[in-house]
Amino acid sequence: MTRSDLTCEDGLRGGGSALDDGAPWSAGALGDGIRSNGGAGGPDADALGWGALERGGVPGGEPSDGDVPGADAPRSSAPSDDTPDSAAAVRSASREANAARGPSFNANMPETPLIPHLGVDPTSGNSGRALHLHILGSGSKGNCALVEGPEGYIMIDDGFSRREVLRRMHELNLDEARVQALVLTHEHSDHVSGVSVWCKRFDGALFASEGTADTRAYLSCLPFCAFEPGETLEIAGVRVETFATTHDVVNPTGFRFSYGGDAIGYATDTGTLPPDALRLLADARILALESNHDVPMLRTGSYPRMLQDRILSARGHLSNAQAAEAVTSLVFNRTEQVVAMHISQENNRPSLAVRALAEALGASLDDELGTSATLARGDGPRLSVRAAGQNIPISIW
Ligand SMILES: [Zn+2]
Ligand SMILES: [Zn+2]
Repeated sequence: MTRSDLTCEDGLRGGGSALDDGAPWSAGALGDGIRSNGGAGGPDADALGWGALERGGVPGGEPSDGDVPGADAPRSSAPSDDTPDSAAAVRSASREANAARGPSFNANMPETPLIPHLGVDPTSGNSGRALHLHILGSGSKGNCALVEGPEGYIMIDDGFSRREVLRRMHELNLDEARVQALVLTHEHSDHVSGVSVWCKRFDGALFASEGTADTRAYLSCLPFCAFEPGETLEIAGVRVETFATTHDVVNPTGFRFSYGGDAIGYATDTGTLPPDALRLLADARILALESNHDVPMLRTGSYPRMLQDRILSARGHLSNAQAAEAVTSLVFNRTEQVVAMHISQENNRPSLAVRALAEALGASLDDELGTSATLARGDGPRLSVRAAGQNIPISIW
């Protein structure tokens, strides 16, 4: 598919019944739903803690510390292979794409009930697992995830080099050609540093909240479709409800992806969870939620007090305790996976994040390392809790 085949307008058709999150739901087969091809580290390399996670490194030396609000200030220049001529060409395309968007941008998308109904969608088999989440990496050194839907993948953020994205996709047996679109949460470099180079060979649709692409020259020259947080999009056959998060950037956004009665909630890099975020993250089958820092570790760590205060502020990052409190109102019977995201390498440990979430949910740690936990339910699917790593890609089915 080329970008011309998937313009803003084309990519935002009104939702049909297949997109109705109110479709029936089934708990379906159990199983942990997570596959990881952790390379040399193996699937549970995270269990060894950050030493193991860092072993893989990030080839190409990517962005600055996105743990630190404002630390990854806009870069003064685009990547070296970004020629002025190509930038001018795509800037023109961007204007056309946005002009073509028109009033149909958000037309006919159904409202989401406060808590979607549960049940089985006949189009998605009887498992109810119509969507999958592949997390290529999550943390201050780079973020990229792929929501797999009926037409392919929707990439969320791209904070890795192209080579690294492809390497991680191949680890998970994912096909680059199936990436249909890219959406951004915000413009910090650990989320966007790879976008420019990626787009040189990518014709899919690009989405970012109003103002986000304008913050960096190498984003503003790309044909992003701009949306306001709160708008509902349709991207690659998936309903994408957007909501405002609170972070020290122009217009940070989180997402709820829905298709075939299945739903994924995704929120990272936010100091708080506003009411709309709580509403749209609730009752997803897969919940990917930031659990950035352990407050005592942050307060006793090496960061200057002013920086600590910023991380803890409403425009900073969610702590383990905040995430733990949130999941008590976000996790419902159909929730099968809770993934702690954007875990700080300085001020947190995967096991601390998982323990906090597990305790809040009444889940039992799977082993003494405490890097995953499970809640068995007599009347519903098993709930798994684990942490996304910086360097170990995982697929959550
Ligand atoms: Zn970040
Ligand atoms: Zn950020």
